[in-house]
Amino acid sequence: MGNDFFYAQPVKTWFGESCLDRLGEVLAAFQIERAVLVCGRHFAAAAAALQEKLPAVKAVFSAVEPDPQLSGAVRAAELARETGADTIIGIGGGSALDTAKFAAAIAPGDAEPLAYYRGEVPFPTNPLKIVCVPTTAGTGSEVTQVSVISNGNEKRTINNPVFMPKAAVVDPLLSFSVPAGTAVCTGLDALAHALEGYWSKNHQPISDLMAVEAVRLITQNLEKVRLAGPNADLPAHSAMAYAALLGGLSFALPKTAACHACSYPICEAFHISHGEACAFTLDSFVRINADERLEELCRRAGLSGTEELAAWIANIKKKAGLRTRLSELGEADIPALAAAAAVHPLMQNNPVPMDAAALEKMFETLR
Ligand code: NAD
Repeated sequence: MGNDFFYAQPVKTWFGESCLDRLGEVLAAFQIERAVLVCGRHFAAAAAALQEKLPAVKAVFSAVEPDPQLSGAVRAAELARETGADTIIGIGGGSALDTAKFAAAIAPGDAEPLAYYRGEVPFPTNPLKIVCVPTTAGTGSEVTQVSVISNGNEKRTINNPVFMPKAAVVDPLLSFSVPAGTAVCTGLDALAHALEGYWSKNHQPISDLMAVEAVRLITQNLEKVRLAGPNADLPAHSAMAYAALLGGLSFALPKTAACHACSYPICEAFHISHGEACAFTLDSFVRINADERLEELCRRAGLSGTEELAAWIANIKKKAGLRTRLSELGEADIPALAAAAAVHPLMQNNPVPMDAAALEKMFETLR
């Protein structure tokens, strides 16, 4: 890479413990007067309390499920139309944020939701405003133009500027209550974002800086979060919330690579969480992609090198009870997994070319 690069980050971001209390201020800063709040069941009671407190929140859609379905986004978009909303606020893990983003994109349009989903018609050019409030320390969806939505068993990662939030409010007190197992999965998703943004063929210096800091924070705090469990060790949870934000910023422009390309067929075949699916191949790709740049990242992040990083990932997966072998996931068709991952567009970003044969070899080591 030469010295030329492009960098942009349009999302205004508020970070800090209790900064959810400033949501009213954030809405006022964007002249938001009519909003629908989109969340999962875990946040339903808190959402009702927020609606009481914030007159701009006109309705709540609290039925988002993990691996969110298109039907949920369609219902949230209908609610936005019925209430004349100009904004959708997503509060939750990546599933709620991505539902909010998709709903905001389609609400002003007349076409069939499935046609937008399949890319058969362009999204309306006047999406509703999007405000994202993450409650997991993982996806970084609050700072990306990505929405991951499923339709039945089909799961699509759609990258489009219409999904770019106007504002992100990252309050570490919200992810403080996440159970330890979920926190490890989401934390390893954030680590995958940082590493893949860094080793992506499209990496650039500003994203690299954030990736290094994210890797440092995650390798120094995720085990503390796992040991403490929910609602204990706030400094470690706060560090993870910040690291997940940095992880999102690390891959927002460079995009992810082989590990994420493999996560999609893994999720489709075995229905495991996105974080666990990314974690499944992450240490393998640390070893496959190990080069002088990655060694340098490790040293700058306080690790001795790529071998220590790969061992750290394998170790925390084992301690958290994540599945590390295909035989633990179910009946695996390795050639089919490898073939699907090989043609995923993100595979092109990997610094080491991975064709179906190379992927098959890697999956064999995980049998
Ligand atoms: P999630 O949103 O599916 O949430 C996981 C579980 O944790 C859910 O049951 C949820 O209700 C619960 N939960 C969330 N916050 C909680 C809290 N504070 N306390 C207790 N429980 C809580 O999980 P996720 O890992 O945050 O998001 C995964 C989704 O995001 C996947 O669909 C993935 O593909 C997508 N994703 C999107 C991007 C992007 O840039 N848009 C990036 C990575 C992943």
